[in-house]
Amino acid sequence: MTLFDSPAFEGHEGVHSFFDEKTGLKCIIAVHSTARGPAAGGCRMWPFASAELALEDALRLSRAMSYKNAMADLELGGGKAVIIGDSRTQKSPALFEAFGRAVEDVGGKYWTAEDVGVSPADLMHARKTTRYVAGLTGHAAASGDPSPVTAEGVFRGITLGVQRALGRDLNGVTVALQGVGHVGAYLAEKLHAAGAKLIIADVNDDALRQVAERTGARIVPPAAIFDAEAEVFAPCALGGAVNPDTLPRLRCKVIAGGANNQLSDPETGRAVFDRGMLYLPDYVINGGGIINVAGEIRALDRGEAFDPAWVEMKLARLMETLGEVLDRSKFDRRPTDQVAGDMAKARISLAAEQKAAA
Ligand code: NAD
Repeated sequence: MTLFDSPAFEGHEGVHSFFDEKTGLKCIIAVHSTARGPAAGGCRMWPFASAELALEDALRLSRAMSYKNAMADLELGGGKAVIIGDSRTQKSPALFEAFGRAVEDVGGKYWTAEDVGVSPADLMHARKTTRYVAGLTGHAAASGDPSPVTAEGVFRGITLGVQRALGRDLNGVTVALQGVGHVGAYLAEKLHAAGAKLIIADVNDDALRQVAERTGARIVPPAAIFDAEAEVFAPCALGGAVNPDTLPRLRCKVIAGGANNQLSDPETGRAVFDRGMLYLPDYVINGGGIINVAGEIRALDRGEAFDPAWVEMKLARLMETLGEVLDRSKFDRRPTDQVAGDMAKARISLAAEQKAAA
């Protein structure tokens, strides 16, 4: 199979691969669409078993960023970078300086930020060789850690989902929360403050203990979270939490969390819908983080300070869009992920037409 036949290719505008002999950097930067503006999406460092797998991940993630940025109504397209390597043993300042040169080579069509395996401290090194880096700290335009804003969006989304599916507020509702890392821990505190009861699972015992102490959550083993007696299932760990094996075990009415790629495949989205469960599409509900990053890109472009009020305005609008997805799904009797996918594609196509006509 060639790159152009890959199911993940789906009309990418550009796919760039870089190798730096001195540092050993091997990286791919995928630019899915710049129709709405320069592509933006994080950089992931992962010990991919092959270059093919790294490419597939980059393509899949960059297309998802186009959808996420379009649904958040940002003037940004979708892109993603992957560095092939082990983030525990192969990081160095020189590697990230080389990565910065790779980003610079793409000529401003791609803005990078942190993702799995890459921290703001790593990106400070990339910033020495490119200006197209966001999600940093320590300067007036910097937006800092996006996780609290992601968690705030997910919290508002869960509140909306519970209102729509159960006709009530969160007080007394039980939420099964998978993953209490950056996003999951902030989310747990917000849910607790709203009176929700929590059942939590993670593979990190320290994180579990800390969250349980602060929120009174009940801890269950990682595999048992799918069987938890809860009205809401909130995936906040890795992708694919809702799949043909786990779906028959879920007892919830609402699936809403921060993780990317929660559904293993589109058929699972259909099966969720047929079971009468309400799924809040991941790239809509978890768009708070990229809105925060976009706030930094905007501030850098304008030579201004970061503006939290702009981020709040965009987050509020994102929640309106989420409500529209749920309305259309109910009206058209179609799964929410299909409705959101159509809306995102339409927004990208419209921007492409306007760009072509300009
Ligand atoms: P994180 O690494 O801080 O947290 C993930 C947590 O999941 C960790 O505590 C980890 O131990 C746990 N985990 C891993 N495997 C598990 C398993 N099998 N069962 C239970 N727990 C498990 O990451 P994060 O920044 O909190 O992001 C969480 C998810 O949200 C990811 O899918 C990420 O891509 C997505 N996301 C994050 C942001 C953000 O702002 N951080 C924005 C959008 C989407």
